[in-house]
Amino acid sequence: MFAGPVEFLKGVVAMSGLPDADRLEVCFAGRSNVGKSSLINAITGRKAIARASNTPGRTQEINFFTLGESHYLVDLPGYGYANAPLAKVEAWQRLLKQYLSGRPNLRRAFVLIDARHGIKDVDEEIMSLLDSSAVTFQCVLTKVDKLKAGERDKVLDQVRGKLAKHPAAFPELIVTSSEKGEGIATLRAVIATLE
Ligand code: GDP
Repeated sequence: MFAGPVEFLKGVVAMSGLPDADRLEVCFAGRSNVGKSSLINAITGRKAIARASNTPGRTQEINFFTLGESHYLVDLPGYGYANAPLAKVEAWQRLLKQYLSGRPNLRRAFVLIDARHGIKDVDEEIMSLLDSSAVTFQCVLTKVDKLKAGERDKVLDQVRGKLAKHPAAFPELIVTSSEKGEGIATLRAVIATLE
């Protein structure tokens, strides 16, 4: 699907560290513990590639991976830590804003939402930032294997209702389970068809 290696390239803490915008780029955002590392591992087919992002010291960085020779996959720091110091939160919000508005090759942001929890206020904040940065974003529901039969439609309705208020939201959702492999091929295909 993605010809060439999938590798951790670098962690970035300032705009000056960004790699050249010479490939198509997609980024992944989500609350901490949403299942972002598991999803990145699943779509790259590498068991522990996103572990690089979760090692101490890397959790506040924007982490770049090569996805074959044509794409960058960007792992944004998880947000919504209950105990994060305000200065750190502000610093990363600043970098995030700069990144989102300064990356001409960024084709889409994937905002991960835990299927059990739906869209929370902190997710709305990121979505509003994506709206104002004019970055198209698509919601990816994670851990759907944890939903009971019959719960899925309720969650999808809640998410669709909230997305309708965001001008930058791509209407179609991607429903995934990294554990069961559901939706992974769809997500890969969406990335591969971006131009
Ligand atoms: P991150 O903090 O967003 O990178 O989240 P992780 O990928 O580290 O996952 C957080 C927790 O959720 C871990 O205990 C994972 O095993 C679990 N998890 C992640 N994806 C899934 C999934 O699709 N299904 C289930 N049942 N658990 C998952």
